Amino acid sequence: MQQGEMLKGKRALVTGSTSGIGLAVARALREEGADIILNGLGDQDEIDTLAEELGARYEGANLLDPAAIEAMMEAVGPVDILVNNAGMQHVSPVEDFPPAKWDAVIALNLTAAFHTVRLAVPGMKAKGWGRIINTASAHSTAASPFKSAYVASKHAVAGFTKTIALELAQSGVTANCISPGYVWTPLVEGQIPDTMAARGLSREEVINDVLLAKQPTKKFVQPEEVGALAVFLCREEAGNVTGANWSIDGGWTAE
Ligand code: NAD
Repeated sequence: MQQGEMLKGKRALVTGSTSGIGLAVARALREEGADIILNGLGDQDEIDTLAEELGARYEGANLLDPAAIEAMMEAVGPVDILVNNAGMQHVSPVEDFPPAKWDAVIALNLTAAFHTVRLAVPGMKAKGWGRIINTASAHSTAASPFKSAYVASKHAVAGFTKTIALELAQSGVTANCISPGYVWTPLVEGQIPDTMAARGLSREEVINDVLLAKQPTKKFVQPEEVGALAVFLCREEAGNVTGANWSIDGGWTAE
């Protein structure tokens, strides 16, 4: 991989980077020279291959467990760039929504970011430089039926990000959300069967009439496009970009 110099010497922890958007963000940061710490679940052989490709360290913490997050942050030490990206979805009418699923979605999509941020901020403040990027979603400002926990968690991540941006405003540390529309990843593929059931639709109808119907471009967002936006937020020139929620959603939330 050809490597730039822009983020040389910066250490970047990207949660949920064994797949999908997080992996694309990790690759994009690596291409600019950052040292990557991968996190996420999955097949260990595949993860080892990714870690080798990126020259990365891997931390397998299960982010549903605050003690595991603390152990990971302790093991990793200070980071310059923190990308809270791990996330999960569950699709169900609210009256049937399993309470354990609600708890898991909130724990992973919201509470895990609180823990990594509270543990990373002292190191960033000490250096007078830091970048916190939270992968929110178009669902941080708009809702869709049957995704109550996810929409609640992503709205909360947007509010959390604005709050820490204000707290950190004079410290050299920025905090922003990236809010993709639909990106074709295992997370989206995995919700198709439940969406078919909840709405009584075929697979093709879910893709075209539910997912792409939201996006005026009629195209899925590409993971690499999200990676490029994350790189921009890490640039020196983005030092005054903080507390923002960056849509990358093919026009979804413009409507
Ligand atoms: P994905 O399923 O491809 O990746 C999710 C990542 O999180 C994987 O690396 C997985 O191993 C990791 N993960 C899951 N549970 C974990 C746990 N308990 N502990 C540690 N890691 C865990 O999904 P994706 O689509 O790339 O989603 C990444 C983020 O982007 C999520 O926060 C998601 O909500 C958000 N997002 C996705 C889309 C989309 O259309 N795909 C749109 C908007 C926002």
